[in-house]
Amino acid sequence: MLEDKNPQRTALENLGEFGLIKHLTQQFELRQPSSLKGIGDDAAVLDHKDQKTIVSTDLLVEGVHFDLSYMPLKHLGYKSVMVNLSDIYAMNATATQITISIAVSNRFPLEALEEFYAGVAQACQMYKVDLVGGDTTSSTKGMLISITAIGVANENNIVYRSGAKANDLLVVTGDVGGAYLGLQVLEREKEVFKVNPNSQPDLEPYSYLVERQLKPEARKDIVELLEKLEVQPTSMIDISDGLSSEILHLCEQSDVGCNLFEDKIPLDPTVISTSEEFKMDSTMIALSGGEDYELLFTIDQADFPKIKANPNLTVIGHMTSKGEGAHLITRANTKIALSAQGWNSFTN
Ligand code: ADP
Ligand code: MG
Repeated sequence: MLEDKNPQRTALENLGEFGLIKHLTQQFELRQPSSLKGIGDDAAVLDHKDQKTIVSTDLLVEGVHFDLSYMPLKHLGYKSVMVNLSDIYAMNATATQITISIAVSNRFPLEALEEFYAGVAQACQMYKVDLVGGDTTSSTKGMLISITAIGVANENNIVYRSGAKANDLLVVTGDVGGAYLGLQVLEREKEVFKVNPNSQPDLEPYSYLVERQLKPEARKDIVELLEKLEVQPTSMIDISDGLSSEILHLCEQSDVGCNLFEDKIPLDPTVISTSEEFKMDSTMIALSGGEDYELLFTIDQADFPKIKANPNLTVIGHMTSKGEGAHLITRANTKIALSAQGWNSFTN
């Protein structure tokens, strides 16, 4: 999955700015009826009829948010789109369009940008979003990517971070902690490679973790599932930083507390085994790891029968009154205050 290096190197100045934009974007077609005008004019034109428009933007900087020594550019293109779509789905909305702005130094040949846009194209196709614009410029060093995602929702379906009530159930999708461990595995291989460039990494036992890091999927399916189950979450957020800090965001914005049960946190078996190998606590990784792009939401207890049989959804706790604070209830049945870093072992 890591082999996508194109040996050809065409300098970007051979194409010129407009040639480059045309070359990179001509393969993109418009699939959404709401995309009236896409790339090619001064601005895109969208018609979302009587639905509300949802907008989210992210900036990704080489060396801060991604490392091209183990992140293939195609994966980077795909992941950059996922990170943004995830924010739209976290509003219980449908993503419809994106814009992409990139700045690259002359270290990047055309083939590198082609790889990046191949990943973007795959994401657009899989998630049915249209690329409708962007901007292209040079940077003195490295690569910067800014993506804006646009979505739609009926006003009544939009879910904010602020709607959770005491006694609501706290639900997480999929499993957590994998993306962080995938990063640890890749960082370790990078160090090995520095010492011995002929070494061939054996990532096979870690394929799930590496995939969670390099090719995350935004949970469009969950928005569709919730609609099918007729469940309207009371609050929702996507897990970009780690379970703990996202729970604290919901608590703060909803004015509630929370009890999170350690034994309920869904972990993939490879997360447990690899945590042991790295001599790390798997609960700590789930709480502070980040980049899982799962959804975390609260529902009214009356909705529990609708979700309980679903393998994608796990109840991990419940909300309490604000005065009770936000806590992890451990397997040993002790109560530990949650902090943005995972948990705070100094206070109860
Ligand atoms: P302007 O000079 O008005 O900023 P540009 O020449 O930069 O226009 O852009 C021309 C068209 O190409 C616009 O529709 C713009 O949104 C689109 N575009 C420019 N760069 C990108 C990019 N990196 N990805 C996608 N679309 C782009
Ligand atoms: Mg421009």
